[in-house]
Amino acid sequence: MNRILHVDGDSFFASCEIALDKNLEGRAVWVGGGRRGDGIVIAANRAAKKFGVKTGMACFEAKRICPRGVLCKPHYDEYRRISAEMFHVLEEYSPTLVPVSIDEGFLDFSTMASVVWRDTTPEKYVREICDRIAREVDIPVSAGLANSSRLAKLATDAGKPGFLEVKPGEEKEFLKDRSVRELSGIGKNRQRSLAALGALTFGHVAKLPSTLLKQKFGIWGQQLWLFANGLWNEPLLLEVKDRTTISSNTTLPYDEPDYEAALTFALSEATRLTGQLRREQLQARELSLTIRFNDFSEVGGTHRFREPQFLNSIFNTALEEIFHDCMAGQFKPVRQIRIAFWNLARLDLQPTLWGRTDAERWGALDDATHKLNSQFGNSSVMTGAQLALQQVDAAHKNPAAKCPFVPQREMVKKLWGTDADPLAHKGDWEKRLAKVSKQLQFQH
Ligand SMILES: [Mg+2]
Repeated sequence: MNRILHVDGDSFFASCEIALDKNLEGRAVWVGGGRRGDGIVIAANRAAKKFGVKTGMACFEAKRICPRGVLCKPHYDEYRRISAEMFHVLEEYSPTLVPVSIDEGFLDFSTMASVVWRDTTPEKYVREICDRIAREVDIPVSAGLANSSRLAKLATDAGKPGFLEVKPGEEKEFLKDRSVRELSGIGKNRQRSLAALGALTFGHVAKLPSTLLKQKFGIWGQQLWLFANGLWNEPLLLEVKDRTTISSNTTLPYDEPDYEAALTFALSEATRLTGQLRREQLQARELSLTIRFNDFSEVGGTHRFREPQFLNSIFNTALEEIFHDCMAGQFKPVRQIRIAFWNLARLDLQPTLWGRTDAERWGALDDATHKLNSQFGNSSVMTGAQLALQQVDAAHKNPAAKCPFVPQREMVKKLWGTDADPLAHKGDWEKRLAKVSKQLQFQH
């Protein structure tokens, strides 16, 4: 009999802010995203939610409907630290801990019943864990216990804030009136197909013939039928999956009327993401760009490469093309820029210095650049694309920038991970290196 515990921080980012600043306790608190922390709401605590503050809402809107609430800028490093502390406490309680996000994880409690819970109840035991996290890590967590991770998650959501156990044998009853929408990972299409069969709740699903579900949805349909009948008994497995996407989503601090500035920013973001691809030894076959305007309408496009790519110059060329395609004829100011690399594959570069093909030589060159940059600082060697970016950027700075946000500082930071002027305090050898790299600029 599987017993899986799901633990989830309550409004985690907002709770972290309260843990960091006790003056915020008892107040409505939300955390703003975007580069200046005042873009859209990325987390809101219970008190703020009572006023209608929601994730995804513009921060000024949140302030309007909840004037006494507090906007916090995000402190991601602190969130990561607090998250690690939370998982440190949790790992004391089970040999199998599977974190699924910064504030959420599963613990395998399958063997507890005969040993640990002999002298106590699961309820008492889990409440002790939650209390300990509240005491030592200073954040509130909710938890759910059931026979599978999926059901445990539903239990957490149903019992939030606090703890809820779906006892063995009570699964079907617990699920009976719950909407199938609550199942994580259920898409709109499947929801619609189920609705067409008259199945809006798990209770409805349980009454359908399993053969019909199998016919309509294959294995997933069979699993769903078992789940709805409380028979889905799945062990907790620690899967180490490769990433499937790397993306960034930036809300500009002001509506940006200047499309060249928006493109510059998009290119710098793509460069940063390419760096991340490289760090994780990955390459991407698809690149997508979505632009959201100040009226929340969106345009975008995707480019699919014939082979997986990892070069900044190739990505930037494709990105520029998508940008020009989808922005042609547009006039509204830009509010948000999303970039994603999809369809990722492992980057297996031959360990050759120069290689036989163009791609191999590019790869070797790119690798060498990366090594130099990690050794001597991120702007020691620049690609043509990076240099072009810098020039476009300089054009925006001088003369007077047309755009309300002058991206220079922030973009340098995005590009090179530091606020410092890349050439301000470098030794002579670095200047020489920069000169050489300019002469050897890669053109694309
Ligand atoms: Mg949470």
